[in-house]
Amino acid sequence: MLSGIRPTGESFQLGNYVGAVRHWASMQDENECFFFLADLHALIDTPEPQRLRGRTRQAVAELLAMGVDPERSTVFAQGHVPEHAELGWILGCLTGFGEASRMTQFKDKGGGTVGLFTYPVLQAADILLYSADAVPIGEDQRQHLELTRDLAQRFNSRYGDTFSLPAAYAGRAGERIKDLRDPSRKMSKSIGGSGTVWVLDDPKTITKKVKSAVTDTGREVVASEEKPGVTNLLTILSVATGKALPELEQAYAGKGYGDFKADVADAVVELFAPVRERYAELVADEGYLDEVLADGAAAARGVATSMLTTVRDRVGLLAPRRT
Ligand code: ATP
Ligand code: MG
Repeated sequence: MLSGIRPTGESFQLGNYVGAVRHWASMQDENECFFFLADLHALIDTPEPQRLRGRTRQAVAELLAMGVDPERSTVFAQGHVPEHAELGWILGCLTGFGEASRMTQFKDKGGGTVGLFTYPVLQAADILLYSADAVPIGEDQRQHLELTRDLAQRFNSRYGDTFSLPAAYAGRAGERIKDLRDPSRKMSKSIGGSGTVWVLDDPKTITKKVKSAVTDTGREVVASEEKPGVTNLLTILSVATGKALPELEQAYAGKGYGDFKADVADAVVELFAPVRERYAELVADEGYLDEVLADGAAAARGVATSMLTTVRDRVGLLAPRRT
């Protein structure tokens, strides 16, 4: 099992927790898990170097605070394992230009750097290096996982069976959390602003953001396509309380948006209170966080170098040899 997250933004956001990290935490007993901070992917936004370094370490503390356990899982920084970039190059040589151009994330941004264009290929390398069979991702990453499967198949049929085909583990449908201010787009770390709930936001800030979330016309608390704002809040409440949507819709029948939003705010505050508390303890111990990353890098490299040795041989790269 493998998944990654970019050390971008102020901290991780509600959508990252709902769509990804809470699943990571719950899968650690039954699976051999690799979780990485995608610092190479973060470079696409050319962050300020000092900030990227700081965020990468802080991100470890956040993951641990959300329940990722370095005793049971391999937690590492992508940049500590150079094989990711190397396999990315090799897979890029098997990727069609048109194929990469069809990735909606690139199309949506209306162009950008070569890094943004090829990042789905690097993502394929991230996954295939570890022979991951399950990849917990949010809905926004589905198309990239399809590309990964295509590239694995293409490589296998050209060079012989090498990679296993990963399956998405995307949880329940409707787990894509939307921006509170603009429910037509997903909540994102790198967008931020008042439509984004950070997992480290203090209770007052969370409440303020939820209460000023865009709701839709009418006053019924029901999930529907015409009500993306209310549907988003219902999804959030459902995840935070563990109650199903129909049950929640019934509970708010005849009540207004005011009560509903107050309850959503309280539920999110409660959800993240223990995360904030654990984070504060963890982040104070830089030495420990670096140790987690160093141990993780050593374990990840063990797997990655062995895969790359096979890949290099299969594609015909001459191995260095002294005579
Ligand atoms: P950025 O804006 O920097 O890309 P992001 O919030 O999109 O940040 P990523 O690091 O790209 O986060 O993705 C980490 C994981 O979180 C991925 O598995 C992604 O599918 C998931 N994810 C991101 N945003 C959401 C969201 N709004 N709802 C559900 N899952 C999400
Ligand atoms: Mg993203």
